[in-house]
Amino acid sequence: MLEKREISAAEITASVFARISCVEDSIKSFVTLTRDQAVHMAENADARISSGSKEPLTGIPVAIKDNMCTEGILTTCSSKILKSFIPPYESTVTSKLLEQGYVLPGKTNLDEFAMGSSTENSGFFTTRNPWDTERIPGGSSGGSAAAVAADECIAALGSDTGGSIRQPAALCGVVGMKPTYGRVSRYGLVAFASSLDQIGPITKNVRDTAVLLNIIAGRDPLDSTSAPLNVPDFTAAVGREIKGMKIGIPKEYFIDGMDPEVESAVRTAIKQYEALGAIPVEISLPHSGYAVATYYVLATSEASSNLARYDGVKYGFRSEGKDLIDMYMQSRAQGFGAEVKRRIMLGTYTLSSGYYDAYYKKAQQVRTLIKGDFEQAFRTVDVILTPTTPTAAFKMGEKTADPLQMYLADIFTISVNLAGVPGISIPCGFTSGNLPIGLQLIGKHFDEETLVQAAYAYEQSTDWHKRRPSL
Ligand code: GLN
Repeated sequence: MLEKREISAAEITASVFARISCVEDSIKSFVTLTRDQAVHMAENADARISSGSKEPLTGIPVAIKDNMCTEGILTTCSSKILKSFIPPYESTVTSKLLEQGYVLPGKTNLDEFAMGSSTENSGFFTTRNPWDTERIPGGSSGGSAAAVAADECIAALGSDTGGSIRQPAALCGVVGMKPTYGRVSRYGLVAFASSLDQIGPITKNVRDTAVLLNIIAGRDPLDSTSAPLNVPDFTAAVGREIKGMKIGIPKEYFIDGMDPEVESAVRTAIKQYEALGAIPVEISLPHSGYAVATYYVLATSEASSNLARYDGVKYGFRSEGKDLIDMYMQSRAQGFGAEVKRRIMLGTYTLSSGYYDAYYKKAQQVRTLIKGDFEQAFRTVDVILTPTTPTAAFKMGEKTADPLQMYLADIFTISVNLAGVPGISIPCGFTSGNLPIGLQLIGKHFDEETLVQAAYAYEQSTDWHKRRPSL
């Protein structure tokens, strides 16, 4: 409609904010709403369109998870320690969106520093699942996924260290992709676990994910871990046939304790893939059982190092103290929430002398084995299909007393980050209680094209992605 000039960017932005006014009180997706900036950005977008130039995202409202730096706009990581932090620079991903002339409706809620699976660890408030406001939206990109599902924006960006894009996308009934490690620049993404973090799209359908990925992907001189590879046009994979595609089904991913409704939706999806001409192949990823433990050694070790910079001096919150050391200690004690402190303590322990070899080094060795499992599997299959999560959205408060239960929410997504390969979650059904179920497709390193191809083919043969929550 925007291309045909049937609607203006200003009208799209106004409609997004009208929707936000209606539903935001019950969903609470946003930490910060940037209405004034959005109105201004939409005017500029309309001017740009009038002068005949339009990029795919010109005038499109894209919500940004509040752990990506936006120059001059509050960036809190949903942490009290950064509650007044205004970055002096722009992240690479949002710079790329700015070049396109996008519209920023606001910054979305997350688990503090992206540590969690429900947004209940946010230092400010919990976001609600648009399908059932008594339930969590998943996390840590819960605000982004809920905002997309509740039509408070057209699309969003999230970040994924162990599942934080795919898990909330699954629980909110939308599409979410974690690209290959190195595909998207992490410059300006506030670091949680640098060897695992990756930014990616959360959208209403697979095509929109391809459009966003086209824009945010690519080598960035400001991030030495971004890969010096050409970025293909991911939208070209939309609509490609999947006849003969080999889809690996890992036997370790259909486990006891998994919700039978989730299992049956995923098994039905496998049948649908067969009907589309794909060939399911049983495979094994034998080290899957070690993934959660490995992740919680490596991610916490990296977090303990990355979060050392929040000392009350350079950023955000500073407490009074009787001397310098006391000021550091008080600032951290008051600024960080319980889960972040737990992770810093765990990570500091696993890196400490005498324990380093037993925990950190051992976990790095197991990580190599997990990566090897995927390399082995991809010798015979084109993509791997699994459930995204073992259950649909759980109730608020259900898992907050037991961190291990919360950690298990990411049991199917964590290996993908450890191996560095790309993964996408797409809607594949609903529970009897009308909660969305997601399926995950995992690809070879830098083969997001096959993920788009396989995800789109399934999406178009079902109508799960067309269902909306009634709010
Ligand atoms: N839920 C996982 C954790 O708490 C993953 C979070 C993420 O991907 N950022 O670490």
